[in-house]
Amino acid sequence: MKQKKPLGLYVHIPFCRSKCDYCDFCSIVPNSNSVIEHYTDALILQMEDNSARLRPYLIDTVYIGGGTPTSLDEKRLARIIENIYRNFKIAKKAEFTIEANPATCDAKSLRRLRKLGVNRLSMGLQSVHDNELRALGRIHTFADFRDTYEAARAAGFDNVSLDLMYGIPEQTEKSFSETLSAVTALEPDHISMYALKIEDGTPFARRKDALVLPDEDAQFSMYMNGVEYLASRGFERYEISNFARGGKYSAHNLKYWHSEEYFGLGAAAHSFIDGERISTTRNIRDFIDGLEIVNNDINVIDSKVAVRGEALADDYVMLAMRLSEGVNVADFNAKFGIDFNEKYGVLLDDYVDDGFVEKDERGYRFTSSGMFVSNYILSDVLGLDEE
Ligand code: SF4
Repeated sequence: MKQKKPLGLYVHIPFCRSKCDYCDFCSIVPNSNSVIEHYTDALILQMEDNSARLRPYLIDTVYIGGGTPTSLDEKRLARIIENIYRNFKIAKKAEFTIEANPATCDAKSLRRLRKLGVNRLSMGLQSVHDNELRALGRIHTFADFRDTYEAARAAGFDNVSLDLMYGIPEQTEKSFSETLSAVTALEPDHISMYALKIEDGTPFARRKDALVLPDEDAQFSMYMNGVEYLASRGFERYEISNFARGGKYSAHNLKYWHSEEYFGLGAAAHSFIDGERISTTRNIRDFIDGLEIVNNDINVIDSKVAVRGEALADDYVMLAMRLSEGVNVADFNAKFGIDFNEKYGVLLDDYVDDGFVEKDERGYRFTSSGMFVSNYILSDVLGLDEE
Protein backbone atom coordinates (compact mmCIF):
# COMPACT_ATOMS: atom_id res chain seq x y z
CA MET A 1 0.00 0.00 0.00
CA LYS A 2 1.27 3.47 -0.89
CA GLN A 3 2.50 5.32 2.18
CA LYS A 4 0.50 8.41 3.01
CA LYS A 5 2.27 11.77 3.27
CA PRO A 6 2.23 13.57 6.63
CA LEU A 7 0.13 16.72 6.93
CA GLY A 8 -0.85 19.18 9.66
CA LEU A 9 -4.50 20.25 9.84
CA TYR A 10 -5.57 23.65 11.19
CA VAL A 11 -9.21 24.53 11.93
CA HIS A 12 -10.15 28.13 12.69
CA ILE A 13 -13.01 29.04 15.03
CA PRO A 14 -13.50 32.81 14.77
CA PHE A 15 -15.63 33.43 17.86
CA CYS A 16 -14.87 34.89 21.27
CA ARG A 17 -17.00 35.76 24.29
CA SER A 18 -15.51 39.24 24.33
CA LYS A 19 -12.81 40.96 22.32
CA CYS A 20 -9.46 41.62 24.03
CA ASP A 21 -8.18 45.16 23.50
CA TYR A 22 -4.99 44.14 21.71
CA CYS A 23 -6.43 41.46 19.43
CA ASP A 24 -6.35 41.62 15.65
CA PHE A 25 -6.95 37.90 15.09
CA CYS A 26 -9.87 36.91 12.91
CA SER A 27 -12.54 36.65 15.59
CA ILE A 28 -15.86 38.27 16.40
CA VAL A 29 -18.26 38.27 19.30
CA PRO A 30 -21.28 36.62 17.65
CA ASN A 31 -24.56 38.46 18.12
CA SER A 32 -26.62 35.32 17.65
CA ASN A 33 -26.33 31.55 17.67
CA SER A 34 -27.35 31.54 14.05
CA VAL A 35 -23.97 32.82 12.80
CA ILE A 36 -22.19 30.12 14.81
CA GLU A 37 -24.52 27.45 13.45
CA HIS A 38 -24.02 28.61 9.85
CA TYR A 39 -20.26 28.83 10.32
CA THR A 40 -20.16 25.29 11.73
CA ASP A 41 -22.18 24.02 8.76
CA ALA A 42 -19.86 25.84 6.33
CA LEU A 43 -16.78 24.43 8.04
CA ILE A 44 -18.13 20.91 7.73
CA LEU A 45 -18.99 21.49 4.06
CA GLN A 46 -15.40 22.63 3.56
CA MET A 47 -14.15 19.43 5.23
CA GLU A 48 -16.34 17.34 2.94
CA ASP A 49 -15.15 19.31 -0.12
CA ASN A 50 -11.54 18.55 0.75
CA SER A 51 -11.92 15.01 2.01
CA ALA A 52 -10.99 13.40 -1.32
CA ARG A 53 -8.14 15.83 -1.97
CA LEU A 54 -6.53 15.01 1.36
CA ARG A 55 -6.94 11.24 1.02
CA PRO A 56 -3.23 10.73 0.15
CA TYR A 57 -2.30 12.33 3.48
CA LEU A 58 -2.01 11.04 7.02
CA ILE A 59 -2.78 13.89 9.38
CA ASP A 60 -0.33 13.71 12.25
CA THR A 61 -1.14 17.06 13.88
CA VAL A 62 -4.50 18.77 14.32
CA TYR A 63 -4.75 22.28 15.74
CA ILE A 64 -8.09 23.95 16.48
CA GLY A 65 -7.37 27.63 17.01
CA GLY A 66 -9.15 30.92 17.00
CA GLY A 67 -10.74 32.97 18.25
CA THR A 68 -11.70 30.85 21.20
CA PRO A 69 -12.68 27.34 20.11
CA THR A 70 -13.87 26.53 23.64
CA SER A 71 -16.39 29.38 23.43
CA LEU A 72 -18.52 27.07 21.28
CA ASP A 73 -20.99 24.92 23.14
CA GLU A 74 -19.89 21.34 23.74
CA LYS A 75 -22.23 19.81 21.17
CA ARG A 76 -21.03 22.03 18.32
CA LEU A 77 -17.40 21.48 19.18
CA ALA A 78 -18.01 17.73 19.31
CA ARG A 79 -19.69 17.90 15.90
CA ILE A 80 -16.66 19.67 14.42
CA ILE A 81 -14.19 17.21 15.95
CA GLU A 82 -16.23 14.18 14.88
CA ASN A 83 -16.28 15.54 11.33
CA ILE A 84 -12.51 15.95 11.35
CA TYR A 85 -12.26 12.20 12.06
CA ARG A 86 -15.00 11.38 9.56
CA ASN A 87 -13.47 13.32 6.66
CA PHE A 88 -9.74 12.84 7.15
CA LYS A 89 -7.32 10.09 8.08
CA ILE A 90 -5.93 11.06 11.47
CA ALA A 91 -2.86 9.22 12.75
CA LYS A 92 -3.39 7.18 15.92
CA LYS A 93 -0.73 9.13 17.77
CA ALA A 94 -1.55 12.51 16.25
CA GLU A 95 -0.92 15.59 18.37
CA PHE A 96 -4.39 17.13 18.71
CA THR A 97 -4.37 20.64 20.17
CA ILE A 98 -7.20 22.97 21.04
CA GLU A 99 -6.85 26.57 22.16
CA ALA A 100 -8.74 27.32 25.33
CA ASN A 101 -9.64 30.47 27.20
CA PRO A 102 -9.72 29.73 30.96
CA ALA A 103 -13.14 31.36 31.27
CA THR A 104 -14.76 29.14 28.64
CA CYS A 105 -14.14 25.59 29.80
CA ASP A 106 -14.73 23.55 32.92
CA ALA A 107 -14.10 20.05 34.24
CA LYS A 108 -16.97 18.55 32.24
CA SER A 109 -16.15 20.14 28.89
CA LEU A 110 -12.45 19.31 29.31
CA ARG A 111 -13.22 15.64 30.04
CA ARG A 112 -15.37 15.57 26.93
CA LEU A 113 -12.62 17.08 24.78
CA ARG A 114 -10.17 14.51 26.09
CA LYS A 115 -12.62 11.72 25.22
CA LEU A 116 -12.99 13.13 21.71
CA GLY A 117 -9.25 12.64 21.16
CA VAL A 118 -7.92 16.11 21.98
CA ASN A 119 -4.63 15.52 23.79
CA ARG A 120 -3.00 18.94 24.00
CA LEU A 121 -4.39 22.15 25.45
CA SER A 122 -3.05 25.60 24.63
CA MET A 123 -4.34 28.04 27.24
CA GLY A 124 -4.16 31.82 26.94
CA LEU A 125 -3.13 33.07 30.38
CA GLN A 126 -0.90 36.12 29.57
CA SER A 127 -0.24 37.20 33.17
CA VAL A 128 -0.86 36.09 36.76
CA HIS A 129 -1.72 39.68 37.77
CA ASP A 130 -5.39 40.54 37.55
CA ASN A 131 -4.69 44.24 36.96
CA GLU A 132 -2.64 43.31 33.87
CA LEU A 133 -5.34 40.91 32.68
CA ARG A 134 -7.91 43.71 33.04
CA ALA A 135 -5.61 46.10 31.18
CA LEU A 136 -5.56 43.63 28.27
CA GLY A 137 -9.34 43.23 28.33
CA ARG A 138 -9.11 39.52 29.22
CA ILE A 139 -12.29 38.01 30.65
CA HIS A 140 -10.64 35.73 33.23
CA THR A 141 -8.69 36.17 36.45
CA PHE A 142 -5.64 34.21 37.52
CA ALA A 143 -7.87 32.27 39.95
CA ASP A 144 -10.15 31.28 37.01
CA PHE A 145 -7.10 30.10 35.14
CA ARG A 146 -5.83 28.02 38.07
CA ASP A 147 -9.20 26.25 38.38
CA THR A 148 -9.26 25.46 34.67
CA TYR A 149 -5.63 24.33 34.67
CA GLU A 150 -6.27 21.92 37.55
CA ALA A 151 -9.42 20.66 35.84
CA ALA A 152 -7.40 20.05 32.65
CA ARG A 153 -4.81 18.01 34.52
CA ALA A 154 -7.59 16.07 36.29
CA ALA A 155 -9.25 15.41 32.91
CA GLY A 156 -6.05 13.71 31.75
CA PHE A 157 -4.35 16.45 29.72
CA ASP A 158 -0.65 15.66 30.11
CA ASN A 159 0.43 18.18 27.50
CA VAL A 160 -0.58 21.73 28.40
CA SER A 161 0.88 24.89 26.91
CA LEU A 162 0.43 28.38 28.37
CA ASP A 163 0.65 31.71 26.54
CA LEU A 164 2.29 34.58 28.38
CA MET A 165 2.80 38.14 27.33
CA TYR A 166 5.41 40.81 28.08
CA GLY A 167 5.14 44.49 27.34
CA ILE A 168 1.62 44.71 28.86
CA PRO A 169 0.32 48.07 30.12
CA GLU A 170 1.12 48.47 33.84
CA GLN A 171 3.57 45.53 33.69
CA THR A 172 7.00 45.90 35.28
CA GLU A 173 10.08 43.72 35.10
CA LYS A 174 9.27 42.61 38.64
CA SER A 175 5.64 41.74 37.86
CA PHE A 176 6.73 39.77 34.80
CA SER A 177 9.24 37.83 36.92
CA GLU A 178 6.41 37.05 39.32
CA THR A 179 4.31 35.77 36.42
CA LEU A 180 7.13 33.49 35.28
CA SER A 181 7.76 32.13 38.74
CA ALA A 182 4.04 31.50 39.48
CA VAL A 183 3.54 29.85 36.10
CA THR A 184 6.59 27.58 36.21
CA ALA A 185 5.53 26.47 39.71
CA LEU A 186 2.47 24.96 38.02
CA GLU A 187 4.77 22.86 35.81
CA PRO A 188 3.14 23.28 32.41
CA ASP A 189 4.70 21.29 29.57
CA HIS A 190 5.14 24.22 27.22
CA ILE A 191 5.20 28.02 27.41
CA SER A 192 4.81 30.58 24.63
CA MET A 193 6.09 34.02 25.58
CA TYR A 194 5.06 36.79 23.20
CA ALA A 195 5.70 40.54 23.14
CA LEU A 196 2.57 42.68 23.06
CA LYS A 197 2.30 44.40 19.71
CA ILE A 198 -0.03 47.31 19.17
CA GLU A 199 -1.82 46.29 15.99
CA ASP A 200 -3.65 48.78 13.75
CA GLY A 201 -7.40 48.82 14.13
CA THR A 202 -7.44 47.53 17.72
CA PRO A 203 -8.75 49.45 20.76
CA PHE A 204 -5.13 49.64 21.96
CA ALA A 205 -4.07 51.35 18.74
CA ARG A 206 -6.87 53.91 19.17
CA ARG A 207 -5.72 54.87 22.66
CA LYS A 208 -2.02 54.19 22.17
CA ASP A 209 -0.90 57.56 23.52
CA ALA A 210 -2.71 56.97 26.81
CA LEU A 211 -1.24 53.50 27.39
CA VAL A 212 1.56 53.21 29.93
CA LEU A 213 3.72 50.58 28.25
CA PRO A 214 7.11 49.19 29.28
CA ASP A 215 9.70 50.76 26.95
CA GLU A 216 11.82 48.75 24.54
CA ASP A 217 14.73 48.41 27.01
CA ALA A 218 12.37 47.05 29.65
CA GLN A 219 10.88 44.64 27.10
CA PHE A 220 14.34 43.50 26.09
CA SER A 221 15.20 42.80 29.75
CA MET A 222 11.92 40.95 30.22
CA TYR A 223 12.66 38.72 27.23
CA MET A 224 16.29 38.06 28.15
CA ASN A 225 15.54 37.45 31.83
CA GLY A 226 12.57 35.31 30.85
CA VAL A 227 14.70 33.11 28.59
CA GLU A 228 17.29 32.69 31.33
CA TYR A 229 14.74 32.00 34.05
CA LEU A 230 12.80 29.48 31.97
CA ALA A 231 16.04 27.66 31.13
CA SER A 232 16.81 27.46 34.86
CA ARG A 233 13.41 25.80 35.35
CA GLY A 234 14.02 23.18 32.64
CA PHE A 235 12.28 24.90 29.72
CA GLU A 236 14.27 24.62 26.52
CA ARG A 237 13.77 27.49 24.09
CA TYR A 238 13.34 25.82 20.72
CA GLU A 239 11.89 28.83 18.88
CA ILE A 240 12.03 32.59 19.45
CA SER A 241 8.92 32.61 21.66
CA ASN A 242 8.44 28.93 22.49
CA PHE A 243 9.79 26.82 25.33
CA ALA A 244 9.23 23.16 26.13
CA ARG A 245 9.92 20.79 29.00
CA GLY A 246 10.69 17.13 28.43
CA GLY A 247 10.82 17.55 24.65
CA LYS A 248 7.13 18.48 24.40
CA TYR A 249 7.58 20.83 21.45
CA SER A 250 4.51 21.85 19.49
CA ALA A 251 4.65 19.32 16.65
CA HIS A 252 2.04 21.31 14.73
CA ASN A 253 3.87 24.63 14.91
CA LEU A 254 7.15 22.90 14.05
CA LYS A 255 5.58 22.05 10.70
CA TYR A 256 5.27 25.78 9.96
CA TRP A 257 8.86 26.49 10.96
CA HIS A 258 10.21 23.46 9.08
CA SER A 259 8.26 24.49 5.93
CA GLU A 260 6.33 21.21 5.99
CA GLU A 261 2.85 20.84 4.53
CA TYR A 262 -0.31 21.88 6.37
CA PHE A 263 -3.90 22.50 5.41
CA GLY A 264 -6.16 25.15 6.94
CA LEU A 265 -9.95 25.07 7.25
CA GLY A 266 -12.18 27.97 8.21
CA ALA A 267 -12.05 31.74 7.76
CA ALA A 268 -8.54 33.28 7.73
CA ALA A 269 -6.91 29.83 7.61
CA HIS A 270 -3.71 29.28 5.64
CA SER A 271 -2.42 26.24 3.79
CA PHE A 272 0.91 25.22 2.37
CA ILE A 273 0.35 22.25 0.14
CA ASP A 274 1.55 21.01 -3.27
CA GLY A 275 3.94 23.99 -3.51
CA GLU A 276 1.17 26.56 -3.04
CA ARG A 277 0.45 28.97 -0.22
CA ILE A 278 -3.31 29.44 0.04
CA SER A 279 -5.14 31.89 2.28
CA THR A 280 -8.85 31.86 2.99
CA THR A 281 -11.04 34.94 3.29
CA ARG A 282 -11.02 36.64 6.70
CA ASN A 283 -14.61 37.72 6.15
CA ILE A 284 -16.80 35.34 8.12
CA ARG A 285 -19.97 36.18 6.16
CA ASP A 286 -18.16 35.57 2.84
CA PHE A 287 -16.83 32.29 4.17
CA ILE A 288 -20.31 31.11 5.15
CA ASP A 289 -21.95 32.27 1.91
CA GLY A 290 -19.14 30.88 -0.24
CA LEU A 291 -19.72 27.42 1.14
CA GLU A 292 -23.41 27.37 2.02
CA ILE A 293 -24.80 29.04 -1.09
CA VAL A 294 -22.45 27.84 -3.79
CA ASN A 295 -20.89 24.98 -1.81
CA ASN A 296 -17.54 25.29 -3.43
CA ASP A 297 -14.34 25.66 -1.54
CA ILE A 298 -12.86 27.79 -4.35
CA ASN A 299 -15.21 30.64 -3.44
CA VAL A 300 -13.58 31.22 -0.10
CA ILE A 301 -9.99 31.37 -1.30
CA ASP A 302 -8.50 34.81 -0.89
CA SER A 303 -5.15 34.11 -2.52
CA LYS A 304 -3.24 31.20 -3.97
CA VAL A 305 0.42 31.59 -4.80
CA ALA A 306 2.84 29.00 -6.14
CA VAL A 307 6.06 29.22 -4.15
CA ARG A 308 9.12 27.76 -5.85
CA GLY A 309 12.86 28.21 -6.27
CA GLU A 310 14.37 31.26 -4.58
CA ALA A 311 11.05 32.39 -3.08
CA LEU A 312 10.66 29.01 -1.38
CA ALA A 313 14.27 29.19 -0.17
CA ASP A 314 13.64 32.69 1.28
CA ASP A 315 10.55 31.43 3.10
CA TYR A 316 12.51 28.48 4.41
CA VAL A 317 15.27 30.71 5.80
CA MET A 318 12.79 33.13 7.36
CA LEU A 319 10.99 30.30 9.17
CA ALA A 320 13.95 28.07 10.05
CA MET A 321 15.90 30.99 11.55
CA ARG A 322 13.11 31.34 14.10
CA LEU A 323 14.23 28.03 15.56
CA SER A 324 17.04 27.73 18.10
CA GLU A 325 18.67 25.14 15.84
CA GLY A 326 18.70 27.69 12.99
CA VAL A 327 19.64 26.68 9.46
CA ASN A 328 21.78 23.64 8.68
CA VAL A 329 23.78 24.82 5.66
CA ALA A 330 24.47 21.36 4.17
CA ASP A 331 20.77 20.39 4.40
CA PHE A 332 19.72 23.72 2.89
CA ASN A 333 22.17 23.43 -0.02
CA ALA A 334 21.03 19.88 -0.78
CA LYS A 335 17.35 20.81 -0.57
CA PHE A 336 17.42 23.93 -2.74
CA GLY A 337 20.59 23.63 -4.83
CA ILE A 338 21.44 27.17 -3.72
CA ASP A 339 24.68 28.09 -1.96
CA PHE A 340 23.44 29.31 1.44
CA ASN A 341 26.70 30.99 2.37
CA GLU A 342 26.81 32.97 -0.85
CA LYS A 343 23.16 34.07 -0.79
CA TYR A 344 22.49 34.58 2.94
CA GLY A 345 25.66 33.73 4.90
CA VAL A 346 27.64 36.80 3.80
CA LEU A 347 24.80 39.04 5.01
CA LEU A 348 24.33 37.13 8.27
CA ASP A 349 28.10 37.38 8.90
CA ASP A 350 27.62 41.13 9.51
CA TYR A 351 25.56 40.24 12.58
CA VAL A 352 27.99 37.66 13.97
CA ASP A 353 30.43 40.31 15.25
CA ASP A 354 27.56 42.18 16.93
CA GLY A 355 26.65 39.04 18.87
CA PHE A 356 23.23 38.64 17.24
CA VAL A 357 24.07 35.57 15.15
CA GLU A 358 26.16 32.47 15.88
CA LYS A 359 27.93 30.54 13.16
CA ASP A 360 29.74 27.20 13.20
CA GLU A 361 30.55 24.39 10.77
CA ARG A 362 26.91 23.25 10.92
CA GLY A 363 25.21 26.53 10.11
CA TYR A 364 23.70 29.76 11.41
CA ARG A 365 21.38 30.55 14.29
CA PHE A 366 20.32 33.58 16.32
CA THR A 367 21.67 34.26 19.79
CA SER A 368 19.13 35.32 22.45
CA SER A 369 19.67 39.01 21.76
CA GLY A 370 19.48 38.28 18.03
CA MET A 371 16.13 36.57 18.49
CA PHE A 372 14.76 39.73 20.06
CA VAL A 373 15.60 41.70 16.90
CA SER A 374 15.21 38.82 14.45
CA ASN A 375 12.49 40.57 12.41
CA TYR A 376 14.82 43.43 11.66
CA ILE A 377 17.78 41.17 10.78
CA LEU A 378 15.73 38.85 8.57
CA SER A 379 14.17 41.80 6.76
CA ASP A 380 17.66 43.03 6.02
CA VAL A 381 19.05 39.65 4.95
CA LEU A 382 16.03 38.73 2.83
CA GLY A 383 15.64 42.21 1.36
CA LEU A 384 12.16 42.73 2.75
CA ASP A 385 10.62 45.98 3.90
CA GLU A 386 11.20 46.38 7.60
CA GLU A 387 8.02 45.75 9.62
S1 SF4 B 1 -9.48 35.50 23.41
FE1 SF4 B 1 -7.80 35.44 21.90
S2 SF4 B 1 -8.78 35.54 19.88
FE2 SF4 B 1 -10.33 36.15 21.42
S3 SF4 B 1 -10.24 38.37 21.48
FE3 SF4 B 1 -8.85 37.62 23.09
S4 SF4 B 1 -6.82 37.45 22.11
FE4 SF4 B 1 -8.37 37.63 20.46
